[in-house]
Amino acid sequence: MTPDDPANNPYRILDLDYQALGFRCGLEVHHQILTERKLFCHCPAGLYSTKVDAEVMRHMRPTLSELGEYDPCALMEFKTKKEIVYLLNKESVCTYEMDDTPPFPIDQKAVDIALEIAMLFGCQIVGEAHIARKQYLDGSIPTGFQRTTLVGVSGSIPFTSHFPPASGGTKGGSTTAPERQIGIIQLGLEEDACREVSDMRHEVQFRTDRLGMPLIEVVTESVLHHPYEVAEAGKLISQILRSTGKVRRGIGSVRQDVNVSVTGGTRVEIKGVPRIPLFPRLVSIEAYRQKRLLDLRDELKRRGITETSLEFSIHEMPAERIHFRTPKLASALERGMRIAAVRIPGIQGLLHWEVQPGRTFAHEIAGRVRVIACLDEMPNLFHTDTDGEFSLFPEEQTAVRVMTGAKNGDVVIILWGPDEDVTTGINEVLARIREATQGVPSETRQARKGGWTDFERLLPGPNRMYPDTDTPPTIVTPERVKRIRDSLPEPPWSRRERLRGTGLSDALADQMLLSPFFDLFWNIRNETKLSANRIARVLIQDIRAARRHGGHPDRITDDAWRKLFAHLQCGELNWEAVPQLVRIRSRRSGADWMSIATKQQMLPLAENDWQPIVDSALNLQTRTKFKESRIRWLMGQLQRPPGRIPAQRVAELLAQKVRDNHV
Ligand SMILES: [Zn+2]
Repeated sequence: MTPDDPANNPYRILDLDYQALGFRCGLEVHHQILTERKLFCHCPAGLYSTKVDAEVMRHMRPTLSELGEYDPCALMEFKTKKEIVYLLNKESVCTYEMDDTPPFPIDQKAVDIALEIAMLFGCQIVGEAHIARKQYLDGSIPTGFQRTTLVGVSGSIPFTSHFPPASGGTKGGSTTAPERQIGIIQLGLEEDACREVSDMRHEVQFRTDRLGMPLIEVVTESVLHHPYEVAEAGKLISQILRSTGKVRRGIGSVRQDVNVSVTGGTRVEIKGVPRIPLFPRLVSIEAYRQKRLLDLRDELKRRGITETSLEFSIHEMPAERIHFRTPKLASALERGMRIAAVRIPGIQGLLHWEVQPGRTFAHEIAGRVRVIACLDEMPNLFHTDTDGEFSLFPEEQTAVRVMTGAKNGDVVIILWGPDEDVTTGINEVLARIREATQGVPSETRQARKGGWTDFERLLPGPNRMYPDTDTPPTIVTPERVKRIRDSLPEPPWSRRERLRGTGLSDALADQMLLSPFFDLFWNIRNETKLSANRIARVLIQDIRAARRHGGHPDRITDDAWRKLFAHLQCGELNWEAVPQLVRIRSRRSGADWMSIATKQQMLPLAENDWQPIVDSALNLQTRTKFKESRIRWLMGQLQRPPGRIPAQRVAELLAQKVRDNHV
């Protein structure tokens, strides 16, 4: 297994045998839906602003669950001792979001949209939607919980992978696997959380405009077995959601969590991945990470280190006993901060054990210390085990080893900062090493540029949901289900099949699937006998190009488009003229196709008229041999302005010339 350089492109996956690893992955997609108001109050949804009218500060503390236990994730958040500051804009927040008044009745329009989406995912629809509270103690929701409701369960969508795990091979094959079903565990409707503005040391700031906006959550089963499959499934889910026309678009409207595990590993959640193309590399690196952590567990076991047998000793490093030259430590001493060392026998060589490309086990430990002890200026630890980012000067290493009585095989880790944070930090160092004796800890991780991930928080326990006593359930009547089912949009897989039936290429069918010109495409297709691929290229590529050139192709009416294709159908215009015509017309509304073509000299010439133009162009070429590149150049010349001369006929003539030349 040779991982590649982390500086490599963010879309490349690691070359691993994913089948042998037992790679499994599932998706949790959170997508905001289009409503006017928030889910449980009457504040407007989607009104984002950086204006601040007031600030509110809160602290979080954990409470016992119904079963009399603390949730590990909740305890972790408590350990961080964060001050949470909410920035309020009076246009977009009321007393409900700030937990000062109980919720208003749930927005029924949001429930309708959620029901529609649940049906598209083939879910069984609930008879009553009960509101539950999902514990959220990172401060992103002031109440400490999110109101959420299930509207559908046990769904499935048809899925065709282009990357079946080739047996024995390591790369995704190019053959298409047979269609199978991806199970949908549940479909939920819930409130969005705050937007984080900053998180430094013990203070985190949030904006509250997004808080309470309705979003739906789609949870798939862990049935994806190759990194590229994960992206394909993500794309399909996104297509289904967008096919409703009732989800929000743009940055921040969709957040996707990816769950990854390998055989012997644990479910690890990579949170908030913004873009689907980033999935494959992220999940491939996570699979590698789990494999490397399992190898590390075996190595610890081989050395006789277990969760209970792990030894350590803690040593203070006061200014009067040691003089540090390493700038971070020198400055810590100057500022009167605590510097402490923890000596751990038997783990020499393991802190630079690679767990992700270019990231070591020391990074795993540093991530925990960063988040939980809030020692967040990196590097936040030094150790005596390697000569990298976390290393001390050699003479300091020696001094530290002497002071702590380190023997061969021991490693000393040094932390600095405020007294209590250092204590928290040392506990986290030890906790993370103990976890390494067990394998892969259950946690959520943040995606970083380059495809690697960093610790975010411990995975919440199973008891983070409890009933919400403030809100009555919504009864979902059979009449309501029928009304929504009767007007469901056509699902993307059926649209795709219909499009392919016209001979449209896969790539164009994929783009036409959710295009606003989908209906227009069919109208034109039915009215003319033109090729589906040519129609689609105009409606997708030429429109996109016109937009890129600053035009407004959306102002061109459906009638105008139909006229364009009618002109093409009866030969009054050539296809070569279309991109430029669309570009010009999208800038000048009012002008019709034929008058633009006339003015720009783009009307088709009769063969008698274009033949001499081609001949004279060919005569210029007599002294050089015809090469492909020359032909392309010549074709370009003959298309100025485009549309006068039929490109295909001329291309055939030129190809003939090449053949003659080569005889
Ligand atoms: Zn409100």
